[in-house]
Amino acid sequence: MSSDPWSSLESEILNCTKCRLYAYRRRAVPGEGNKKSIVVFIGEAPGEKEDEQGRPFVGPAGKLLTELIESIGYKRDDFYITNVVKCRPPENRDPEDDEIEACLPYLLRQLELIKPKLVVCLGRHSARTIFKLAGLKWTSMTSQHGRVYSAKLLGYNVKIVTTYHPAAALYNPQLKSTLEEDFKRTIKSAISEILEHKPVKRTLLDYTTR
Ligand code: URA
Ligand code: SF4
Repeated sequence: MSSDPWSSLESEILNCTKCRLYAYRRRAVPGEGNKKSIVVFIGEAPGEKEDEQGRPFVGPAGKLLTELIESIGYKRDDFYITNVVKCRPPENRDPEDDEIEACLPYLLRQLELIKPKLVVCLGRHSARTIFKLAGLKWTSMTSQHGRVYSAKLLGYNVKIVTTYHPAAALYNPQLKSTLEEDFKRTIKSAISEILEHKPVKRTLLDYTTR
């Protein structure tokens, strides 16, 4: 089976020692979901439950993400879900730049295999990493969340939407409403436009091109 590009990629990730995070992890978390989906959700890094189970977004933040996806009429298995960094940072600290850089080739290979038409970035580390790859300017989540950006990623046309990280919204009701609103308004229409080829009416505010 080593000729299957997904299996070799996943086993490389599971055995990876390219950055310091390998020393702390129980299990690396490559990602999971529909590998034929043209919609990808990219989080930050595994947390405690993810590190325990080897699966992305299975802890409290994952429960919220699953609910958000269901609230707009989809299931998490409809999409591919992964993280910028595949191993849990100790105490759930933010991933450091050199760790993101060391892990990036895996995300690039995943994106190359999937060739997504829509990338949903959860949290600022995911957003700033994907924006940089796509040659877009990242300033802040406050000013850029919930908007659809058109860009080229690895030579393919993609739409990119960023929103707050579900973990950040867990204890902040205000942020949770913003996250819910981004899903209901922008992410839902971006997904249905991509999957059902249905153009959706947007206001100029919702739509940003470079
Ligand atoms: N937070 C993330 O960014 N990713 C996970 O997989 C879980 C929590
Ligand atoms: Fe390898 Fe990425 Fe894990 Fe670092 S975080 S050890 S680069 S898989």
